[in-house]
Amino acid sequence: MRTLEQIKAFMLDMDGTFYVDEKLMPHAADLLVELNRRRLPYIFLTNNSSARATDFQQRLKKLGIEVEQRRILTSAEATIRYLRLQTKFNKVFLLGTKALEQEFVEAEFELTADHPDCVVLGFDKTLTYEKLTTACFLIADGLPYIATHPDDTCITAKGLIPDIGSFMAAIYRVTKRWPKVIGKPMPEMVEAALERVGATADQTAMVGDQLDTDMTMAKNNGLFGVLLLSGETSRERFESQSEIEPNLVFDHIGQLYEHLVAKN
Ligand SMILES: [Mg+2]
Repeated sequence: MRTLEQIKAFMLDMDGTFYVDEKLMPHAADLLVELNRRRLPYIFLTNNSSARATDFQQRLKKLGIEVEQRRILTSAEATIRYLRLQTKFNKVFLLGTKALEQEFVEAEFELTADHPDCVVLGFDKTLTYEKLTTACFLIADGLPYIATHPDDTCITAKGLIPDIGSFMAAIYRVTKRWPKVIGKPMPEMVEAALERVGATADQTAMVGDQLDTDMTMAKNNGLFGVLLLSGETSRERFESQSEIEPNLVFDHIGQLYEHLVAKN
């Protein structure tokens, strides 16, 4: 049985974990200070591929948290890493925001609807019927099809909005194909994050509020799972399921901080 004391690196979810509704959770900032003091590397992970790591860096800065850009890994970055390491694709038909398009262009992909090598589906908040139609034609033709992450919905102050999984479902109804998925909870996201923190899976904790992404990722990839009940998972929901047993469960990240400090 691993304990928190054996953990050498931390992967941190952002929304519902580190902050909720643009407010930092108690001791969230203290936790980073403590990890720095102990020289334990950490990285923030987000499945939101509609914005860039620098945008999340700014969001954290507004909350008073300064972190280097390399400490934020988006599912878009993990997807680009996958495409570069595992495929020879250069021409991409991309469904994405301007920010995602720019990220792919900077990574030297050619964005085109004319004979692309693959279709990449991102969290496209600028999706049009025309883009969706073009994607369906290409996917129905059998082109490799990759999605940056699997989330069905994204939570906002007004309620749930359609995320990439909802687009996938629409495309499936037309083409009968599902994509290869990259972000949390898939191993490609874990590999990209482990590369940055310089640790192995068994030395690393995943701290997050979602069972189906954060804790499934921990379970499937041999990470130490720390579930926080401050976001999408209520205690009732957690207790009514039996498939996922995180290594530790806390009400919020402040309790993780207190646990860490109490042990040393
Ligand atoms: Mg979350």
